Amino acid sequence: MPIDATLPYDDQNIFARLLRDEIPSRRVYEDDWAVAFHDIAPAAPVHILVIPRGSYVSWDDFSARASADEIAGFVRAVGHVARAQGLVEPGYRLLANTGPHGGQEVPHLHVHLFGGAPLGMMLAR
Ligand code: 5GP
Repeated sequence: MPIDATLPYDDQNIFARLLRDEIPSRRVYEDDWAVAFHDIAPAAPVHILVIPRGSYVSWDDFSARASADEIAGFVRAVGHVARAQGLVEPGYRLLANTGPHGGQEVPHLHVHLFGGAPLGMMLAR
């Protein structure tokens, strides 16, 4: 079910619980600003989610409220994970679904990192 990205942050959402280690994940990277882990239902040979440690509902919330340090740390973490996964030379795709039209289902900002094969059209038709 797509979520309303304008709602207040829900600290019981699945990624908040994953950050607190209340549910398991296959983490590939973490630092002071971000955590990266494999998507539970991969849509490409490499499908990793990168999330900020801070409590932000969506890209909209993060871009409006996060500090410059949080934004820089998160963006650098996404780039680091892509490099560490060997995705720079073959190429990759980033996606941040936001709100109902974006198809966002989890109300904690996450960037999808896809790679490992040609990814086809940018949007389904
Ligand atoms: P959205 O549609 O919100 O952009 O994407 C949510 C993503 O989170 C989906 O790709 C879904 O497979 C993934 N996901 C949902 N629940 C879990 C979970 O418990 N663990 C992991 N690793 N991924 C999850």
